[in-house]
Amino acid sequence: MKTNFNINNLIRENIKSLMPYSSARDEYINANYKEMIFLDANENPFENGVNRYPDPQQNSVKELLSKIKKIDTKNILLGNGSDEVLDLLFRAFCEPNKDNIITLPPTYGMYSVLANINAVENIKVVLTANFQPNVAQILSEVDTNTKLLFLCSPNNPTGNSFSIAAIEELLLKFNGLVVIDEAYIDFSEQENWLNKLEEFPNLVITQTLSKAYGMAGIRLGVCYASKEIISVLNSIKPPYNVNELSQQKAINRLLDFDAVQKEIIQIKNERLQLEKELKSIDFIEKVYPSDANFLLIQVDDATKRYQQLLSNGIVIRNRSKEPLCENCLRITVGTASENKELIKILKEIN
Ligand SMILES: *Cc1c(COP(=O)(O)O)cnc(C)c1O
Repeated sequence: MKTNFNINNLIRENIKSLMPYSSARDEYINANYKEMIFLDANENPFENGVNRYPDPQQNSVKELLSKIKKIDTKNILLGNGSDEVLDLLFRAFCEPNKDNIITLPPTYGMYSVLANINAVENIKVVLTANFQPNVAQILSEVDTNTKLLFLCSPNNPTGNSFSIAAIEELLLKFNGLVVIDEAYIDFSEQENWLNKLEEFPNLVITQTLSKAYGMAGIRLGVCYASKEIISVLNSIKPPYNVNELSQQKAINRLLDFDAVQKEIIQIKNERLQLEKELKSIDFIEKVYPSDANFLLIQVDDATKRYQQLLSNGIVIRNRSKEPLCENCLRITVGTASENKELIKILKEIN
């Protein structure tokens, strides 16, 4: 249990005094919503499904997520992709040209992009050789201006999950916010960190509908954190940050959670099969274990193999410029027939 943590010490001064922008739709919400005549927001009154502004708090989506994840809606914030959620964290907690964050390369590129946009220093502590957080090194880099620590688990592009003990130690010893990016958690055997929110007031978890839920196109990211943190983020988010079409699509998908589960099982089965087949290819030197919907492989010559696949109509990701990823390629698990085609071509170019 963490006791010496006070969120007020982390919020930027100008954000503390901010009142959230109050939109027309914020000011009037009532049980009789459906029966009211709305002449308050200068909308076009002719119904076409999207003529009204969307619910700024996305309550229907949150209620479904709340049921599925067994967490109170007050602990949930939705964003235009997790990228927006991550950006809100920077804007709420990191003073430009003063504060810093810690990231653990090789990892998701957006943390660094967002740090640059927000003029926040990004202290990079490379993962250990087996792709785990170097806890001692991370803690030694922390100073009074370190506000956020990003842990991507399962990690992109390495595919592995971080050690639970390492994450707990960081949650206990670091007094800024620990952001666990769980974009790939649904493909992992490891449990998510949602049930640790009470224990660690500095824990922030991000998830997304872009990967396992098959909805990258609607841009819907989810943040789970204490009510206090969620309320700070709510005070700075754009009022209508999740549009009506996205909310409708998300609701339909979340109502059909069984279909999502079935696809996850298929993808995990395909991952297992693909892993086996990739190991039989001569020029593939290593297939890293994966808790995600992609596989990181090490080959003899990443640039050459990348180009060969490209000219055969298959696009993968060359990650060989990342630390610890020399000659590494990242391959997303596709459908059974896509994976079969990939293996066929890999055998041909051998
Ligand atoms: C794909 C991915 C996301 C998803 O971002 P969205 O903006 O929600 O699409 C987040 N984090 C990581 C590590 C990812 O790989």
